[in-house]
Amino acid sequence: MKKLIPYGHQWIDEKDIKEVVKILKSDWVTQGPKIEEFENAIAKYCKAKYAVAVSSGTAALYAAYAVAGILPGNEIITTPLTFAATSYAALFFGAKPVFADIQEDTLNIDPVEIEKKITKKTKIISPVDFAGHPCDYDLIQKIAKKHKLLVIEDAAHALGAKYRGKKIGSFSDMTILSFHPVKTITTGEGGMILTNDKKLYEKLKIFRNHGIIKNPKIGGWYYDIKNPGFNLRLTDFQSALGISQLKKVDKFIKRRREIVARYNSAFKNIKEIKIPVERDYVKSSWHIYIIRLQLDKLKASRKEIFESMQKEGLGVQVHYVLLNLQPFCQEGFGMSYGAGDFPVAEKYYSEAITIPLFPKMTDKEVEYVIKTVKKVINRYKK
Ligand SMILES: *Cc1c(COP(=O)(O)O)cnc(C)c1O
Repeated sequence: MKKLIPYGHQWIDEKDIKEVVKILKSDWVTQGPKIEEFENAIAKYCKAKYAVAVSSGTAALYAAYAVAGILPGNEIITTPLTFAATSYAALFFGAKPVFADIQEDTLNIDPVEIEKKITKKTKIISPVDFAGHPCDYDLIQKIAKKHKLLVIEDAAHALGAKYRGKKIGSFSDMTILSFHPVKTITTGEGGMILTNDKKLYEKLKIFRNHGIIKNPKIGGWYYDIKNPGFNLRLTDFQSALGISQLKKVDKFIKRRREIVARYNSAFKNIKEIKIPVERDYVKSSWHIYIIRLQLDKLKASRKEIFESMQKEGLGVQVHYVLLNLQPFCQEGFGMSYGAGDFPVAEKYYSEAITIPLFPKMTDKEVEYVIKTVKKVINRYKK
């Protein structure tokens, strides 16, 4: 097999490396000044009041659910089309994920479906800005207010995206980010929670550091642990990488948008595939680019087409295996989901293929992807 062009990839340059090495040679490898500097830089960029850095996007979800005060038996409403952590992070606090079907065009959780799923046990709505496209927050916030629910936004895909002119991270009760290498910027592993609520902010800082509350009145060494937390800390050298990466975030998104424009114009007249949508009141960060096969116009299955693209050198992927198809949502954790529960998400899932999109892609690679997608589709069209 040819060397694959991956579906996503980091872009780390010499300047990033220099910043990391500087910190490795300093006194503080972890818990030093770079963490707060990174938090402040992200908060400023996203126009959030507070930011708390943690060791991954998943860690950010643990922390957000914990400080939201969910209790055993509570329910969170989220989408079946997300990376599993959005939902399973709540399981560890005894809460139960409840899924609501998605919108056909944006692939985001459908506010109409959210409202149908609300019960007395519902505590949190966890929307996901899928592929970097912000959800319908005016509607979601209205529902949350009416039913007194918290909104914990999973914006792992959406650093730098905008909803009606507002930066992602600036308006939900809490917004979580991921800095995994395929996401907008990277720290290797890493994540952040953004909030405008001082109380939540203070709880988040305690939770990520074992639940430790310093008590200098008793002595400089003394601390109390009322509620044991986790160790979810990010290191200083990762924060240095994050600060350096953040300087390039707008450049990264601009390049993503250029590639998307090129793909859209190349694919828009091919009736065997459907291209992704960006509603006119949002600015997507374009985390991934997904084509949807119109299977009634093709004489091969998604699997055959996926494998043909792979053989031709495209590192294609499918985002994601739906949560209602995951064993943990079907039995053993108080859920009994199964195939057929979410018709819109399931139709999408049956036709989706993620093709390569990352800022470091060369024009030559972009043209190769276009040529290859066209070639494979031509091979199988009816
Ligand atoms: C990547 C991702 C996460 C988890 O982030 P990690 O940093 O990999 O732990 C959570 N939710 C979504 C939607 C993601 O894409």
